[in-house]
Amino acid sequence: MNPPTQNTGRPGPTAATAGGAPHTDREVWAAVDLEGARQERQLELIASENHTSREVIAAMGSVLTNKYAEGYPGKRYYGGCEHVDVVETLAIERATKLFGAEAANVQAHSGTQANIAALMALVTPGARILAMSLDHGGHLSHGHPKNFSGVFYEFQSYGVEKHDERLDMQRVRDMARAFRPSLIMAGASAYSRVLDFPAFRAIADEVGAKLLVDQAHIAGLVAGGAHPSPVPHADVVTMTTHKTLRGPRGGLIVCKEAYLKPINSAVFPGGQGGPFMHVIAAKAIALREAAAPSFTRYAAQVVANAKVLADTLTENGLRIVSGGTDNHLMLVDVTPKGMVGKDAESALHEVDLTCNKNLIPYDQNPPSKASGIRLGTAAITTRGLKEEHMATLGRWIAAVLSAPTDESLKRRVRGEVGELTRAFPIY
Ligand code: PLP
Repeated sequence: MNPPTQNTGRPGPTAATAGGAPHTDREVWAAVDLEGARQERQLELIASENHTSREVIAAMGSVLTNKYAEGYPGKRYYGGCEHVDVVETLAIERATKLFGAEAANVQAHSGTQANIAALMALVTPGARILAMSLDHGGHLSHGHPKNFSGVFYEFQSYGVEKHDERLDMQRVRDMARAFRPSLIMAGASAYSRVLDFPAFRAIADEVGAKLLVDQAHIAGLVAGGAHPSPVPHADVVTMTTHKTLRGPRGGLIVCKEAYLKPINSAVFPGGQGGPFMHVIAAKAIALREAAAPSFTRYAAQVVANAKVLADTLTENGLRIVSGGTDNHLMLVDVTPKGMVGKDAESALHEVDLTCNKNLIPYDQNPPSKASGIRLGTAAITTRGLKEEHMATLGRWIAAVLSAPTDESLKRRVRGEVGELTRAFPIY
């Protein structure tokens, strides 16, 4: 195992890194150290974040960052790729095995890059695409007018129902029958319920569309068996590797064999040049970690923790959008406490609880204020927190949001958060 880093953000000196490198750039390393300390001190409730293993961090700080490797294993445009070929092949094999997929591309630099490639591979510019509304939990790369997706394709959005804040698959079907899209996208950034992939597939087949599932948020839950897998149903599945999957910041695509050629070509040379081989090494390591039995336990614990947190918040006067959660995240409507999301985010930050303001479905407030906050349990579960801690955390959050200007209460809660984070260090 790697030696400890004394709670700084610096990679430890290991054989995989340029170990023992001098840290002469005092300005940069000072900020990195402070970020390391911040992560240790605060409870990370941002649903899209996690804490990777030291081994993943070491790979990203390795000499692989020096290598150009345009192309794919065995077919590169540069010499000297024999070792990075091994790394990329391992990542591909591990991704296909972990997700039970026929094929994989591990080069996308991010989730958005993965979606760019998937759209390029599956449809032609100007095509009609049906995807989840951004205001109801969808992602920018699913049709935001300023994103490449909204610029180059014709999107229509489905959303959640007003009465139960859940997707109604009959409504999605009716929209698809009227709109006749070439592609249907499923997947979200802020939807706490199980996505019905077989129903999406049936709708896509009925209207002659392809199905792209973006499992960015739930990839780790799918890998750990805590959420149904979209892989048997979708033509292509995109994801990020840094959320519940707990790998490095990056994107990943798995697909049916028939789509591999167009996907590979859409990633490189379509949307990217040289792959980040250091990140691909880190992806390979994370995929191995995610295949271990301990990761199955982790994924189940993430979901169990989210349920207890949602229940505790409800018992203490907050409203959870759709009434609860099936996955790692929840949208909390903070208006019952007379607040907006922006102020709730700030008040919680003051007590070392990090989260983000978020629109709730049919929000009356603009995105800059928002009526909700989004909370996730992926990172706090990584540091070892369990159900009993979620009940305490839920009570802290509710207390602070009930009295956001009560300085002595915030001092007390910040102190208690500190005791908990010291008892459960990340590294
Ligand atoms: N897709 C979904 C559903 C997401 O939630 C996100 C990120 O939050 C992305 C794609 C994009 O990932 P990235 O930030 O790596 O581009």
